[in-house]
Amino acid sequence: MQCELCGRVCDCRPATVDGVKMMLCPGCMKYGQGIKPTVETSASVRKPILERSKRPKAKDVYKDMSKELVSGWNDLIKNARKKKGLSREELGFRIGERTVTIAKIENGDLRPSDKMVEKLETELGITLVEEVTSVSSTSTGSRPAGSLTLGDFIKRED
Ligand SMILES: [Zn+2]
Repeated sequence: MQCELCGRVCDCRPATVDGVKMMLCPGCMKYGQGIKPTVETSASVRKPILERSKRPKAKDVYKDMSKELVSGWNDLIKNARKKKGLSREELGFRIGERTVTIAKIENGDLRPSDKMVEKLETELGITLVEEVTSVSSTSTGSRPAGSLTLGDFIKRED
């Protein structure tokens, strides 16, 4: 390494001279402000870890929901509303929700609250929830015939 100020070949270190980053030998170091490379690296390493821990967990929104909505609930609501000949405005008026809320629910963008689900079920004459019991188990042994999923068939082939 060659000193960028005096040209002497030695153990040069990074420093700034009048705002310019240079490699300086110990003799010329007094002309510049020494840069500690460890500060730079540790700061850039620590930053992403902090950002990661700050990120909110999106799934937490659903934690308080006690009931599981049936699959395709948004289409179920939309079809039931159309069958009744109701517009989104009319349905919203009947259950005390805004039209935009009804639209979001029908698009599947918004999960209706338990209270809203009850109102929709009553108003549209449909069933939107299924009680959550111990269904989540994927073991094939104790399940009755007829409830096989695609996953079961894939498993049985190997
Ligand atoms: Zn020098």
